[in-house]
Amino acid sequence: MLVPSVIDALFPADLPEPGHWEERYPPRGLPEGAQVTRLGPSPTGFVHIGGIYVAMINRDISRRSGGPYLVRIEDTDQSREVEGAVAQFAGAFDYFGVPADEDDRNGDYGPYLQSARQPIYLSYVRDLLRRDLAYLCFATSEELAEARRRQEEAKVPTGYYGEWAIWRDAEPTAVQAKLDEGAPYVVRFRSPGTTGARASFTDAIRGRLEHEDNRNDVVLLKSSAHPLPLPTYHLAHAVDDHLMRVTLVVRGEEWISSVPLHLQLFEALGFTPPTYAHIAPLMKKIPGGKRKLSKRKDPESSVTFYVQAGYPAEAVLFYLRGLANGRLAELPLPQALEEPIRLAEFGVAGPLVDLVKLEDISADHIATLSGEQILAAVRAWAAEHDPELVPVLDAERELALAALAVEREGVDNPRKDLRKWSDFRTAYGFFFRQLFVPVPVGDPQFGGMAPDLVRAFAEDFAAGYRHDAADWFDQIRALAAKHGFASSPKEYKKDPDAYPGSIREASQLIRLALTGSTRSPDLFAVANTLGAAEVVRRARVLAAS
Ligand code: GLU
Repeated sequence: MLVPSVIDALFPADLPEPGHWEERYPPRGLPEGAQVTRLGPSPTGFVHIGGIYVAMINRDISRRSGGPYLVRIEDTDQSREVEGAVAQFAGAFDYFGVPADEDDRNGDYGPYLQSARQPIYLSYVRDLLRRDLAYLCFATSEELAEARRRQEEAKVPTGYYGEWAIWRDAEPTAVQAKLDEGAPYVVRFRSPGTTGARASFTDAIRGRLEHEDNRNDVVLLKSSAHPLPLPTYHLAHAVDDHLMRVTLVVRGEEWISSVPLHLQLFEALGFTPPTYAHIAPLMKKIPGGKRKLSKRKDPESSVTFYVQAGYPAEAVLFYLRGLANGRLAELPLPQALEEPIRLAEFGVAGPLVDLVKLEDISADHIATLSGEQILAAVRAWAAEHDPELVPVLDAERELALAALAVEREGVDNPRKDLRKWSDFRTAYGFFFRQLFVPVPVGDPQFGGMAPDLVRAFAEDFAAGYRHDAADWFDQIRALAAKHGFASSPKEYKKDPDAYPGSIREASQLIRLALTGSTRSPDLFAVANTLGAAEVVRRARVLAAS
């Protein structure tokens, strides 16, 4: 064992003792049963939709229990850090209505950025070294690779343990010699685990679990060669969750195998472990099975995907709640957002993220909103993602509301043509003069109808236009007859060569003139919203094309 003065010389002289941090971050004095939860996103890329999922779960559980939910940025892997990621996190959590109750803006248990907590970790590392529960390891990456090769050859488990842990019981003189040379080192945990031992623990979702115990002397503090040696996830998890007085750790199931190590660490550090709940990852259906939603392969794994497309946050949240607890998917949205999420109701199989289902949910939700609500949401979305739309909506507010009212207000089954805010342009853009793209006579949507006929029909329609609901269809019927269209599809079918089309094609011609598409809401409702002058103008544009 190293003498205390050698250990102390490795650390800043004014480094506080653990007791200082214990006092600085006292127990929270919350009522019995209050749960303190946290999310620990790593700023190594965009926010994953799974991050919103876990944030939502944590936030729900802690708020209901009367405890805070905090966000701690886990940036100990600085080589993988992506610029701008941290700023993106807060924006994403706000968008989905799952902001932290506690972070660097308002919390007393910070800093909430691990790289800013380095002295705290060092205090505990020094303490473990002094108590001989950790030690310095000078093994080079070549030596570790060589040991691994030999372990594989000997068909024994790989890792740094037992006889393979070459610095575990090194003579203090050998350690001193390396220190004198200035050789870089890491600090390793002196694991009490032995080969073949089992550890058992309770998971709040999965119940009693048994797992191979940890025997590895894992690294706690990364290389001293780095100007700011940071802790590994394992040490940071124990120290931070203890000092932030976290009571419930909800995290991905990939951490289950680390629980035995974490329990050893909590024990060595003298901390009470939190309750663990390991959740299954979000999955994606693929031909012949399913796999984890992949950051690399699946655009829908990124929160940006939902924000850019403009899925209403409530719809996404409702969908995610249903994935967490199937019971909630069966409830109406407002109720599902109020009901508690329960750990006991999570499945152990990863739930499937199905965009088609989300779109249905979203369309159903939007159909319950008023025109005013939709317009406000579309405008807010457009300000970020379709700036050209904003001045149009502002200049044409009345028209926008009238357009949104078509087949939406005063009907039993409102239109479900908006699944996300970016659908607005496609579904309603044609109402606005500024966005309407006229379709010329030769467009394939006219189904090969002779251009001169289309022009003449449109011109006639414009010249004699009567803006009258009762008369609307009659005028098209009269025009159709005048231009030689069959009076019914049936009649047309009997002798297709005798007509340019039927009354149906004639109506479509007007629909194309007014909306630029062969699909639209009720044509008179559209005409009425556009107003007589605009109807005539659009017919003339077609006639002149
Ligand atoms: N930073 C860790 C991760 O991104 C957090 C895991 C945890 O919640 O403890 O996987």
